[in-house]
Amino acid sequence: MKYIWTPWRMKYIQENIKTSDCIFCQALSQPDGTDNLVLFRGEVVFAILNRYPYTSGHVMVVPRLHKPVLEELDAVIRAEIMELTTKCITVLRAVYHPEGFNIGMNIGAIAGAGIADHVHMHIVPRWAGDTSFMSTLGQTRVLPESLADTYQRILNAW
Ligand SMILES: [Zn+2]
Repeated sequence: MKYIWTPWRMKYIQENIKTSDCIFCQALSQPDGTDNLVLFRGEVVFAILNRYPYTSGHVMVVPRLHKPVLEELDAVIRAEIMELTTKCITVLRAVYHPEGFNIGMNIGAIAGAGIADHVHMHIVPRWAGDTSFMSTLGQTRVLPESLADTYQRILNAW
């Protein structure tokens, strides 16, 4: 995004991102289902399927508050992020029997955050050979099931 920095301009852009460009805020404003991919809503956090999953069952845990970094969230919300992350791991283990998980956050665009303005935790189930399989396909990620199937399977196990 390209802009000239002035205080009012910055404010305009931040508001604009929150209302129209943030996929997490958009998802929260829609009814839950295979369109918005929201799996669970807590009081302060929610879980959502990644529309461009690294592997099947790639889930994200997100605070309801539109904040870019952990230190702008209060301790209760940070704790809820870990609790919901743990719940996701339990469900994903039951559904997909992965051999491991990658769990983490990319803070800031330079660190690889796709949605840098709204902090989120990735939960990625892993199997032996999944990276070597996908690296041979480059940018194309071939997944063994559709997002709608993933959504339903995780929801059934929730
Ligand atoms: Zn947001």
